Amino acid sequence: MSLKITGVETVLLRVPLKQRTITDSQSSVTDVEFLQVVLRTEGGLTGYGMNWSYTPGLKAAQVALDQNYAPLLMGADAVQRRELVRQMFFSNHFIGRVGATRVAIAAVEFALWDLACKAVNLPLWKMLGPARTRVKAYSTDGGWLSWSTDELVRDATRLVERGFDAVKLKLGLPDPLEDLARIAAVRKAVGPKVQIMTDVNCAWTLATARRIAPRLAEHDVTWLEEPMMPEDVRSHAVLQRAISTPLAVGETLYTLQSFRDYIAEGACTFVQADATKLLGIDEWLQVAALAAAWNLPVVPHTNVQQKLHVQLAAATPNALMVENCYESLNEMWVEPIYVRDGHYSLPQEPGCGLQIRDEVIRDHRIG
Ligand SMILES: [Mg+2]
Repeated sequence: MSLKITGVETVLLRVPLKQRTITDSQSSVTDVEFLQVVLRTEGGLTGYGMNWSYTPGLKAAQVALDQNYAPLLMGADAVQRRELVRQMFFSNHFIGRVGATRVAIAAVEFALWDLACKAVNLPLWKMLGPARTRVKAYSTDGGWLSWSTDELVRDATRLVERGFDAVKLKLGLPDPLEDLARIAAVRKAVGPKVQIMTDVNCAWTLATARRIAPRLAEHDVTWLEEPMMPEDVRSHAVLQRAISTPLAVGETLYTLQSFRDYIAEGACTFVQADATKLLGIDEWLQVAALAAAWNLPVVPHTNVQQKLHVQLAAATPNALMVENCYESLNEMWVEPIYVRDGHYSLPQEPGCGLQIRDEVIRDHRIG
């Protein structure tokens, strides 16, 4: 079957969250932008990829895709995935080695993988070779800064009753002592057996981190995520040497080399690689292998891209679990997956599973 690419289409969407406004230390989220890329082939298979943002601006990725990458892809053989990614990267690397251009390339890379999987009629996780048949989930869908302490406790309790045994709380309030009080309230409510993770979304200085982070151990916190700006590897290394709580980073790291630097400096213990920020699935697998060589677990960052990361985690021996968030958006996918008893179901349809439903495109298209 010919996988020669005969059509490249892009669709830009803004999809509202059907839930209260969500706030962390950097953003308030009311809707999420999606860029769907569609690759049509001579043999009749269609590949779907996507990327996302919860700050506006994904239009920049769409322009890069339409103007730079689509002409490169037209007429090419979709099987030549790594070579096509290399060509796309160098076609505009002077203006975008990371950020919007990379996000656009990842969307195409997923569509190329989608075609490769569909050509052999397998879902991605079976194509890669499963290491497990179900994937543990942890929930971020109740730990927002816009929640009162009572609401945090109520939601954590509700999540545990639903079968989650791991929940994440956002930190980064103006008064970090209030952050600690909120963790203490949730720990008291859920008891000692539930894992509590924390996430600062880069809001702290090294001074604040050194003052507050040592006290997380009192509440048996599983990890401290993104305490400071991600470009500052050194400060994370200094902090990790000063505290017993493991650090987690990765959702804002765009390259294999960034992960190498964090890991080699001892600045990261939980590796939160995100294929939608890296150059797609191939680079994600490289990061997972790098982490394995250092005996570190991978816990992919995920908010709307569960379909992808659940499949990658199923095929990665050192993947511990996958984040679960924004469940109100599950229904936008042609084949949704759900968490039951604290574990994700795995998709059965061939491919990566990133096709957005026609009704969602009809109702929310902005470009
Ligand atoms: Mg995070």
